[in-house]
Amino acid sequence: MARPGLPGRWCPVERCDQPKRPMDLLCREHWGRVPASIQQRVWTHWRARQRGDRAAITLHREACRDAIAAVTEKEDAHAEG
Ligand SMILES: [Zn+2]
Repeated sequence: MARPGLPGRWCPVERCDQPKRPMDLLCREHWGRVPASIQQRVWTHWRARQRGDRAAITLHREACRDAIAAVTEKEDAHAEG
């Protein structure tokens, strides 16, 4: 699948070509695989960003990275139960 390279419109998980809503980090399927604790961090910091909390920008970015890493690890470990 062609990847248009427009950030914010497509799921950032490798090998995933699903579109996502701009407000969401991942497509619905991948978001559902993110551990609840990380989902909570992403939302908490995202909302703080919307309120103009500059410190939350870094925290949100880290939470997003953790979320992507969590689903990527699961994809790579599909051979294990
Ligand atoms: Zn995805």
